[in-house]
Amino acid sequence: MIPVTTRAAQNLAVFGLGASGRATARALVSGGAEVVAWDDAAASRAAAAGENIPLAEPDGIDWARQSALVLSPGVPLTHPRPHAVVERATAAGIAVIGDIELMAECCRDAVLVAVTGTNGKSTVAALLAHVCGTAGRRAQLGGNIGRPALDLDPPAPGEVIILELSSFQLELTRNAAFDIAILLNLTPDHLDRHGSMASYAAAKKRIFRSARDGRSQSAVVGIDDDRCRAIHDELAAGGRFTVRPVSAGAGTGAGVHVVDGTLVDAADGESCDLSAAAGLCGPHNWQNAAAAWAAARMLGIVPDAIRTALATFRGLPHRMETVAVIDGVRYVNDSKATNGAAAARALASFPEIYWIAGGIAKEDGLAPAAPWLGNVRHAYLIGEAAASFGRELRGRVPCTQSDSLEHAVRAARRQAAADRAREPVVLLSPAGASFDRYRNFAARGEHFRALVLDGAPGEAR
Ligand code: ADP
Repeated sequence: MIPVTTRAAQNLAVFGLGASGRATARALVSGGAEVVAWDDAAASRAAAAGENIPLAEPDGIDWARQSALVLSPGVPLTHPRPHAVVERATAAGIAVIGDIELMAECCRDAVLVAVTGTNGKSTVAALLAHVCGTAGRRAQLGGNIGRPALDLDPPAPGEVIILELSSFQLELTRNAAFDIAILLNLTPDHLDRHGSMASYAAAKKRIFRSARDGRSQSAVVGIDDDRCRAIHDELAAGGRFTVRPVSAGAGTGAGVHVVDGTLVDAADGESCDLSAAAGLCGPHNWQNAAAAWAAARMLGIVPDAIRTALATFRGLPHRMETVAVIDGVRYVNDSKATNGAAAARALASFPEIYWIAGGIAKEDGLAPAAPWLGNVRHAYLIGEAAASFGRELRGRVPCTQSDSLEHAVRAARRQAAADRAREPVVLLSPAGASFDRYRNFAARGEHFRALVLDGAPGEAR
């Protein structure tokens, strides 16, 4: 745990007592702050009480005495409407911050690397941690992936801390600045919580806050979508960051780009063949590899070590993960593809797809997938979005409305066998969130894996 010594003797209210909220409360207490904490869910309060975190109902808190409200990223800050606790804090004129703000305050001697973007954050953060590990560079990984930021070990001076940051976490920063900030891409997502694409993009842009102490900062920016390209240009013109563009296409000739599976670093002509990188399957992972490469070079890691790391990265579960190849049919679990843009990347990766999609549709629906529908032999639609996805696909792809993932897998398996395709892939890449039927995307992916491997019913909620 990283004790938050910067807030010693201050009063702070912590709201939201999931894993990161509890880690925050413990880190504040350990740093000498006076903490009162709460969560609307009794189970979370019980977990906090078990860790000796002092609890107090928001009504019973003396808000005038609090120096800040530390909010969990899952609690609405602005949309669809601010949570009542946010309104109380705002009325009392108190700052509303998150755990990343506290962490950045008390880890000034560490090298903070932050990763955000609509898709690819976890992959890039994990890949960069793997690169550091391969190169023998001391590093820790946390934030939105793995351990909560304040649950990490206190970093040694110069130690690298890699943080995967969601837009919700960034929205709760006020002064936090990062030594290397990575923005991969921006497509519509979470607009219910941000209100508009403009405020979603604004939240993401907070990753590029300038350090007040004038220390040098670097930015790695994906330039494959127009919004990020504009942010890149703005940063490059601003002159406060050393900026490196990355692209999964030809790019600008500057920065790091990947063409036909070969990564090229324009700064020194170094290159890396990604075609054999089993954990980085699909062109979207070229963008991820390029971003990790650029950040690793900024950390001073030598190209040979990065090449070795890219070749040995195993990928993350539920992201384009080949679960099995059975009777010539490849089964790919891409349950983490919770929006249309992510699913589009999966559809671009295989020529003969039996596609299982559905869940809770996002703002973009299936629109981003349109250019790749030619790769889909048949779609099996599940969950809440089954009907709307069916309408979007009508006349373009043969569709079956499946009433469960189990039925979808069974039908896809049967059809793939009957078609005798050359490279059949049964792909779960839902283009929707999992919460209609599952606890989270991982539970959905595990269910798929179980159905593929042994036909067992698995666990739906
Ligand atoms: P995040 O942490 O941002 O959700 P992940 O690395 O977990 O990103 O990947 C989520 C999904 O997005 C996966 O299904 C993957 O296929 C897709 N994806 C990964 N990287 C990219 C990228 N650079 N561009 C578009 N889609 C991507």
